[in-house]
Amino acid sequence: MSYETIDRVAVLGAGNMGHGITEVAAMAGYDVTMRDIEDELIEEGYEGIAWSLEKLAEKDRLDEPAEEILDRIDTTTDLEAAVEDADLVVEAAPENLELKHDIFSDLEEYTDGDTLLATNTSSLPITDIAEAVDTPERVLGLHFFNPPVKMDLVEVIYGEETSDEAAEAGHEWVESIDKTPIYVRKDVRGFVVNTIVGPFGGEPAWMVSEGDATIRQADAAMVHQRGYPMGPFELADMTGIDIGYHVRKEAGDDVPPIVEEKVENENLGRKTGRGYYDYEDGETSETSQADGDGPDYEPGDGEGFDTLQVEARMVNRAAYLVGEGVATPEAVDTGVQLGLGFPEGICRRGDKLGLDTVLEKLETRLEETGHDRFEPHPYLEELVAEGTTGEDAGAGFYEYDDGDGALEGYHYLNATIEDRVLEVELDRPSRMNALSADLLGEIDDLFSAVDTEEIRCATIEGAGDRAFSAGADITGFGSLEPTDAMDVTPAFETVNDFPRPVVAKIDGYCLGAGLELALACDLRLATDRSAFGAPEIGLGLIPSGGGTQRLMRVLGETRAKELVFRGNHIDADRAENWGLVNRAVDRDDFDDVVAEFVDDLRNGPPIGLEVAKKVMNEGEDASLEAALAMESQGFGLLIGTDDVMEGTMAFAEDREPEFEGQ
Ligand code: NAD
Repeated sequence: MSYETIDRVAVLGAGNMGHGITEVAAMAGYDVTMRDIEDELIEEGYEGIAWSLEKLAEKDRLDEPAEEILDRIDTTTDLEAAVEDADLVVEAAPENLELKHDIFSDLEEYTDGDTLLATNTSSLPITDIAEAVDTPERVLGLHFFNPPVKMDLVEVIYGEETSDEAAEAGHEWVESIDKTPIYVRKDVRGFVVNTIVGPFGGEPAWMVSEGDATIRQADAAMVHQRGYPMGPFELADMTGIDIGYHVRKEAGDDVPPIVEEKVENENLGRKTGRGYYDYEDGETSETSQADGDGPDYEPGDGEGFDTLQVEARMVNRAAYLVGEGVATPEAVDTGVQLGLGFPEGICRRGDKLGLDTVLEKLETRLEETGHDRFEPHPYLEELVAEGTTGEDAGAGFYEYDDGDGALEGYHYLNATIEDRVLEVELDRPSRMNALSADLLGEIDDLFSAVDTEEIRCATIEGAGDRAFSAGADITGFGSLEPTDAMDVTPAFETVNDFPRPVVAKIDGYCLGAGLELALACDLRLATDRSAFGAPEIGLGLIPSGGGTQRLMRVLGETRAKELVFRGNHIDADRAENWGLVNRAVDRDDFDDVVAEFVDDLRNGPPIGLEVAKKVMNEGEDASLEAALAMESQGFGLLIGTDDVMEGTMAFAEDREPEFEGQ
């Protein structure tokens, strides 16, 4: 069976998820039919799409007019009409197995056997839904996150009968709509993301119930010490305490008493005005002193909270997913970062903590409490028994031996020296290579420590195929005090002052701190699909990695202020036109153009280039007179070098010079 070309998509349901999935599919160029059971519901969904597209257009985030995207969307209440010509059906109807069975048995009747049938269910087994059709091999889960237009992740889930062809076709389609798919190879409850988020909320609830922590303490510690985007109780209030309660009940898990109590008293979170925190003025609740202020914990409140106990349980869940072959460590880590906004992958976190430390925590707590939530998964025990306890041991969930030619000891970037070129890859593709404090620290370390004698130039690029770097990792900075944020890192200056030429290879988004990193490089080459911008102003911030100043110098005031004040993106053509990049070229030609630049730098005179870079960088900030003096000083310095001798001789002999850097 082949599912090679997907042209037409049908989405069943125009609710929260259905209208969002319709929107992202149409934005990616697909013809989509959105089906719901009543005209009114369809209208509401369609209006939601139009509203959202308008917002995206205002922010310059659309590649074409919103009307053209809307033109690709048809709507109907007629199921047969919606699906008969579809190559892919995505069902996003209410979470009810009987209803989904009805829908899928109709799909069996109205679609060809090679139509891919996907469900967006969050909690029903794909296998159970697929029972309604005679061809379960073409049924898979495509689990989008809410709201689909903003959330990058889609879990691609195998039911027991799903064929590889069907899962691969689904995976490919997700990539084609510019989302990030992860495979969930077994139909387990919660798939990947909700399996990990369970203990993120659950463990602190147990700890508070057992008197080992307070609500504010847990939230403050997880956010301000560990960099999670939200505290566990704050998150529960936002999603609804009853939601987590029902998920636990359905799974047959024990419910922490504090959750039970909140649900019994109908204090369900924001939606009822009161949950773990109070959201309206009035009498303070038993567990919260808030006066209608919502989450009001302070950074210092987290002291003494055992974050390891929570993280150990999440790492144990990751061990279950990896050990049972549900997902790879990479998939788990991408899932939690994109689906939950975690500051780093949970497998990476386990490897950093030390899996032996994690195991010991679980065993100790198991012994102390006898509660089976601490039961270590055999895969975790196995890793520890084999001595693969994480980063320090050279292997854990991941291997840390980077192999030949690679510079070791970096986790958020890959660095190799290849034929005298230092090649640096920002390696956080799941976060569009967002510059976290850790990644910036590694850039600083690398460019400070690398032996410049060994190399003639450096290149920086982004991993994955979406971005050079889409900006600062805001979750990472969230835990900093405002004053720390002002001098986040010397990384940009280190790159700027690096004695060898540095080339930014830009393919995709180059935004915010990513743009600042590119500006700290000497030369910038871009593919024609790249987009540039300084969106900080939209957050009420300004660039803080040299962006305001370097943009003024590179672009001049008129254009620099447009970028910084408006916060919009500009495309590669305009960037070239403005002199922000040296070349904007077709993606197919990009490697050749980069190679031409790099060859010139690699074969150029190292001292000459170093002096040229220094004089040009420093001269920019000096008076013309002082700058000219620097230039002639530099010139004088070069005169006596072997390289100049070699250069002039090669010129006279009409051959290529071979510079030694002496
Ligand atoms: P919703 O209630 O907002 O929307 C469901 C829509 O489906 C409604 O408009 C309903 O009228 C319509 N519908 C009912 N019967 C139908 C049928 N036979 N054919 C077509 N449409 C029909 O629900 P939602 O939040 O969009 O959730 C939809 C699915 O997505 C559920 O399976 C849910 O578990 C899953 N999901 C939800 C979220 C979320 O955060 N809301 C996230 C991921 C997945």
